[in-house]
Amino acid sequence: MEKKNIVAGNWKMNKTQKDAEEFIKNLAPLIKSCRSSVYIAPSFTALSQSLDAAKETNIIIGAQNMHDETDGAFTGEISGIMLKTLGVEFVILGHSERRHIFNEDNSFINRKVIRALKDGLEPILCIGETQKERSENKTEEVLEEQFCASLKGISKEDAQNIIVAYEPVWAIGTGKTATSEIAEHVHLFIRKLILKHFDKEIAKNMHILYGGSVKPNNVEELMQQENIDGVLVGGASLDYKIFAEIVNKA
Ligand code: PEP
Repeated sequence: MEKKNIVAGNWKMNKTQKDAEEFIKNLAPLIKSCRSSVYIAPSFTALSQSLDAAKETNIIIGAQNMHDETDGAFTGEISGIMLKTLGVEFVILGHSERRHIFNEDNSFINRKVIRALKDGLEPILCIGETQKERSENKTEEVLEEQFCASLKGISKEDAQNIIVAYEPVWAIGTGKTATSEIAEHVHLFIRKLILKHFDKEIAKNMHILYGGSVKPNNVEELMQQENIDGVLVGGASLDYKIFAEIVNKA
């Protein structure tokens, strides 16, 4: 089967139910004939409306986070099974905002990845170094640590359902995109990590997305790189016309 690129939008804490519905209704006709798979992650409160609006379209709806337990005394949290039964198909895990603002560590993220897979959700695992780590030449060390610890205990069979997103923290929401050379260099490193931890087939098939200030004017060059299989878009996914442009150029 042909490996399709993925263009994923992460809306973060933006858009009410009405905004989400309008966005999807406006976006759908613009991206009908795109070559990529299109993923959108609204806030929990807009999931239901987004799922309804995305019916009969090529847009796949996911969540931005989940807890690792199925139920219990975890005030304010949402479980994988709640998402799955709503109709959600994927979940973003380990986003740098979760790691840095909410202090999520690799072991918690690992438990979430395991739970998401058990619940039938496709995890998009985000990994990425900070500016300080990059300037100290620690990029590969940090990525290997995040990758290995977040995917600890994952079988080859389950690995087939995981997407990895390389999101350098210094490029998120800053307007500083990694050059296509930097991104490709890191993606190749991640591809080799997948090979080392799983096998050749999984390394070939696993999607590695790039995220960090992706815009209509840089998406084509990024997508031309051999090891970039798609993009994860934050800020530029909030406007349906801009997002449609990214999708159609990818
Ligand atoms: C993100 O939050 O995943 C992201 C990539 O954000 P932005 O595109 O705004 O840098």
